[in-house]
Amino acid sequence: MIDKRTSLFYDFYQSLSDRYESIGSLLKKALPLMAEYLNADRIFFFDWIGEQSIISLKMMCIGNKSYYMQEDVFVDKNSPEIIKFMEDGIGDSPTLDYPAVYNLLKWRTPLDSLKTIQSGAPAGNQYGVIRIERLKKNKPFSQSDREILSGLCRELSVKINITEVDHYNTTQLRRALALNELAAVFATSLRLSDGIADILKSIQKTFQFDRTSLFLNDPKSGEFKEAYTSDLSGEIKEIDIKEAAIAGVSEACSKQACTPLIKSDIILSLPMIVQNKHLGWLVFDNMLSRMQISDEDVLSLRQFSSQIALAIDNARLFERVQELSNFDDLTKLALRRFFNEHLEQEIYRSERFNLTFSLILLDIDHFKGINDTYGHAVGDEALKAVSEVIRASLRQTDIPCRYGGDEVLIMLPRTTGEEAEHIAKRLMKKVSEIELPSRVTRGADIKLSISQGLSVFPYDATNGQDLINCADKALYYVKETGRGNWASYSDAIKQEEKDKQDASNGKTDK
Ligand code: GH3
Ligand code: MG
Repeated sequence: MIDKRTSLFYDFYQSLSDRYESIGSLLKKALPLMAEYLNADRIFFFDWIGEQSIISLKMMCIGNKSYYMQEDVFVDKNSPEIIKFMEDGIGDSPTLDYPAVYNLLKWRTPLDSLKTIQSGAPAGNQYGVIRIERLKKNKPFSQSDREILSGLCRELSVKINITEVDHYNTTQLRRALALNELAAVFATSLRLSDGIADILKSIQKTFQFDRTSLFLNDPKSGEFKEAYTSDLSGEIKEIDIKEAAIAGVSEACSKQACTPLIKSDIILSLPMIVQNKHLGWLVFDNMLSRMQISDEDVLSLRQFSSQIALAIDNARLFERVQELSNFDDLTKLALRRFFNEHLEQEIYRSERFNLTFSLILLDIDHFKGINDTYGHAVGDEALKAVSEVIRASLRQTDIPCRYGGDEVLIMLPRTTGEEAEHIAKRLMKKVSEIELPSRVTRGADIKLSISQGLSVFPYDATNGQDLINCADKALYYVKETGRGNWASYSDAIKQEEKDKQDASNGKTDK
């Protein structure tokens, strides 16, 4: 037959079989049960912080009601009573004048948990203390009561241990998942702007702060350059640098790269540093909800911040390389690869929204002659001057690209054939007005002229290469018919057909 004590322990064990999110919620369930089993009026839980000689009151239960408390009590850990208590694990209160018994709780914290990381000590025993009280003097705790209390405390220690490990594993899992997700983000989004949006979004998804903000420094001056923020909705906004102060990043912050972190209960600012380069700050805040940012989150985010810094540094480098490899040194015009990417995008956009756009293929007339007569350096200057005129004459959204030696291909989004002809005329006029500096020409009067071929999406062709071929055909037609002019593909075709017709008429006439 099961004795009364065993069935009580089993009942306690069964009652605590749920998973608890925190030790607090476990205690809320366990303490009232313990008080009930032992007919106690009140029960207390303290954290034992041995190294500071403090027991810190965390919770008190009276009947079914539990109260979170915060009160530190100093104890002399070298006193004989405390040494004996630590050995026996149980002892009467030396000061209270009603029956009160202390019982020691002991459990192990998981390796690498926040506590062990913070203390820098290897995983070891953690201690807590339970105190039970009967407020009537004439009801002391019997030997059997003490044995029951010890048994319950053993069971509670096991459950606290499980809860801590569980909590630790959940945190680890969450951190691992978030890290995994961020790693994927870093791997895919090399462009800085995409990367920032993805980073902020995945932090928000994992940690759910009221706001996560990213402040980027100018690599040269170290001052804030730009800032982005994401709130609970996940929307990314660029914010005014002046808001930095509001978000908890002060002016001083921008230069104090050596500060590892700046934290209040609801704001955490982490510097992003890569190889002593201070890239900026990550700022997390719960200014609206006033929810405290947990130590576990701080730990995870500190790990993230170095990864994020690395990703941002990579993205910056990538963008610089992109910039260098996308643009031609001499003319500062885009190169073909860059152009082709945008051409594909423009075709997609124009198809989707039923828009028209035009291409101009432009070639300097008798350019070889300039090289041959005045030298390559003068040729270079002429090429630069023509490119400058082109860049200055176009809208921001137009993309001119150095297509070949002296050929420039220009994409004109949302531009009809008619508008493109105006632009071609304007370019022709401006190029004819170019005066190369005399230090370059050594006094020679060099006149420049260009020939241009135009094609229009979707009328002439609906794919990129065909559209370029159409512009090329029109350009060829201009070159054939005397240079220094422009022609649209449709004009060139019409003219070609007419010429063919004339030629065959001529033949039949003969
Ligand atoms: P056309 O009117 O038929 O276009 O005559 P063209 O002399 O301009 O002939 P073409 O377009 O075939 O010649 C282009 C020349 O541009 C040939 C090449 O030596 C020269 N070139 C290409 N790249 C550069 C450059 O970067 N600098 C200089 N100075 N010359 C270049
Ligand atoms: Mg040429």
